[in-house]
Amino acid sequence: MGKVLIIGAGGVGGVVTHKCAQVPEVFEEICLASRTVGKCDKIAAQIDRPIRTAKVDADKPEEVIELIKSLDPELLINVALPYQDLSIMDACLATGVDYLDTANYESPDEAKFCYKWQWDYEDRFREKGVMALLGSGFDPGVTNVFCAYAAKHYFDEVHYVDIMDCNAGSHGHPFATNFNPEINIREITQRGKYWESGKWVETDPLSVRETFDFPEIGPRAMYLMYHEEMESLVENLKGLKRIRFWMTFGEEYLTHLRVLENVGMTRIDEVDYEGEKIVPLKFLKAILPEPSSLGENYEGKTNIGCMIEGIKDGKKKKIYIYNICDHAECYREVKSQAISYTTGVPAMIGGMLMLTDKWKGKGVFNM
Ligand code: NDP
Repeated sequence: MGKVLIIGAGGVGGVVTHKCAQVPEVFEEICLASRTVGKCDKIAAQIDRPIRTAKVDADKPEEVIELIKSLDPELLINVALPYQDLSIMDACLATGVDYLDTANYESPDEAKFCYKWQWDYEDRFREKGVMALLGSGFDPGVTNVFCAYAAKHYFDEVHYVDIMDCNAGSHGHPFATNFNPEINIREITQRGKYWESGKWVETDPLSVRETFDFPEIGPRAMYLMYHEEMESLVENLKGLKRIRFWMTFGEEYLTHLRVLENVGMTRIDEVDYEGEKIVPLKFLKAILPEPSSLGENYEGKTNIGCMIEGIKDGKKKKIYIYNICDHAECYREVKSQAISYTTGVPAMIGGMLMLTDKWKGKGVFNM
């Protein structure tokens, strides 16, 4: 019941706007703002109810504050980039508006993400009486819900969790990333990390590989990576002995990535190019396809889920809770591929829970 301001008009922003527009009784007014207002207008033109659009540079909290003041929303959904999380949280604090995002903060200067920076806002949000919901996408987001649901309904103790993210779709490009290329490549090229027996164990990037037979997809090679939901699940799943995160990659994708890394195109430091300072990864992002442009000819499905092992009624138990999403069906519904779709739907649902007071709180929460 209210007004929502969505910031970020990329692949995910498009889905969030479409899905909010499908629930007019909750999202009575929608404004979509981004750095490039033309992208907001393009999404708004796909939707058969009025969507307000605006230009904002969310790296500048004062611009976000000004926009919030002019619109007076109850909720801000941040689906720009993780770099903007803190400046948008600052703007929400200054104006007393609830906040939601799908990816945790990282600094442009260091390829590292963790919740500490955002969890540090807890006291300020609580004192101001404002709610922040972090990680309301698929992974993080729905994978946290799968674990919480399993712990509550299917197990007495959860001991092992393997979160597995498989995209078996094909978009027809030799190399493209399904969400923002800069964030995606920074994440994949980081060292792997998992949690076992109370401590974090590091691995070389993409050095641990296993094969899993994904329902409705078949066997796929998957690689161990660090992923942000493990940080909150380790804190919240009592009795946990080990948690790992896996993502599937095809050989062609990995070969491209290796070449790009070897020639220095994934570097995030500035290099001098004909008298100009450029960051190679930002340049690479500029020439790769945008995630929002991939949907049209995308075929195949995603399967993202949690393999959970533990004890129920004194006996060992193992279940796989998962979601299947079809790229072409997503495109038919909201002009998007399935990765943006599976992120944007939980963002809308998180927003709906907040706007209808089903999830009401003061402070910083994780999905
Ligand atoms: P895109 O690159 O497609 O879109 C990002 C959008 O943010 C663009 O419209 C961009 O505008 C805008 N933006 C960037 N910087 C600013 C700024 N300073 N001020 C205002 N707008 C800005 O990315 P995605 O849509 O694929 O991803 C969006 C978010 O969703 C990311 O944070 C990503 O990590 C997260 N995500 C989360 C997942 C999950 O399951 N939890 C899965 C997938 C993504 P412009 O084009 O003008 O630069």
